[in-house]
This record gives sequence, structure tokens and C-alpha cells, in this order.
Amino acid sequence: MAQARPDGNDRYRFCPKCGAELGRGVQAGRERLICGGCGFIFYQNPIVGVAAIVIEDGAVLLTLRGDGRGWDVPGGFVEYDEDIYDALKREMAEETGLEIGIDGVYDVRSNFHASGQHNVGVWVRAHRTGGTLAAADDAVDARFFPFDALPAEAEIAFPTDRLVLARLREEHARG
Ligand SMILES: [Zn+2]
Repeated sequence: MAQARPDGNDRYRFCPKCGAELGRGVQAGRERLICGGCGFIFYQNPIVGVAAIVIEDGAVLLTLRGDGRGWDVPGGFVEYDEDIYDALKREMAEETGLEIGIDGVYDVRSNFHASGQHNVGVWVRAHRTGGTLAAADDAVDARFFPFDALPAEAEIAFPTDRLVLARLREEHARG
């Protein structure tokens, strides 16, 4: 399992529980951050992102990110105390103004594109149940794109969204 990806251990220097300096040790065959003060093992794990695939009249909803990175499938990160589907409904209301119903998981992928934070993305099929389409919060535009007129690859913010959209477009073309 040779991989050049960062293991996350360089992200933190001090123990979040007691404030002592973190050292490194091998635990279960992998180098981990271990607190020299209290022995806490600071596991580095991905966080969970969730995105909604809403398709209406053969067109898929995308949002234009306010950070200039381009278009993405709308969604966001799950809060620690939040159910994943509640997170998706919250993010959709915040970013697109739409209320949604959940249809089911479409795809799950590891995202390594964000430096310093590995996340696992879950793409969920959903449908509009209410609301009025209006970009807000982290999004500056929200639009339905026909599959034969998606933004160019370079205008799509994340490599995993490109893969998911390519899969959707192929399935849409097959009918
Ligand atoms: Zn500690």
C-alpha cells in the first residue's frame, strides 16, 4: 500500500486534551500522534462531506462557489452532532434556497484534493420539495445545467465532482 499522500500527522503539534506536546509513535503498524503528557492517541481521520444531485427536466443543479474555484455539486460538511441527511438538507437550504427530499446514495469517494484535510464525499440523489432557487451563503450562483451543456472540466472545482458528473452524463445519454 505505497502511497505518497500526507498522513495528517503534521497538522497538529499539541494535544487537544491536555495541551502537552504531541510526539510520534507506532501504533497498530502506523505512525500516530501520541501525547507525551496524557498518552492520548490523536487519530487522523477524514471528515465527511455530502452533496445533493438534483435533476429536473434533464438538467443537474450546480452551484458556483464564492471562493472562485468554480462550480460544484451543492453540499457541505457534516457537523459532529448532525445526521448526514440533515446536513444535506441544511446545506441545500443555505446555498440554494431549496428544500429537498432524499432519494438515496449515488456515489461515495475519497477526496484528496484539499491539502491538509482528507474528506470522504457522499453524493446523494435528491429532489426538490419546496423553496425558491436562489444562491446564498458559500454559493454565488445556482443553476440547472443540461447534461450536454455542463461547465467545462476546468470550471468544475473538484476532481471527484468531475467524475460524478461524467458518470451522470453517461447514464443520462444512455437514457
Ligand atoms: Zn495529552
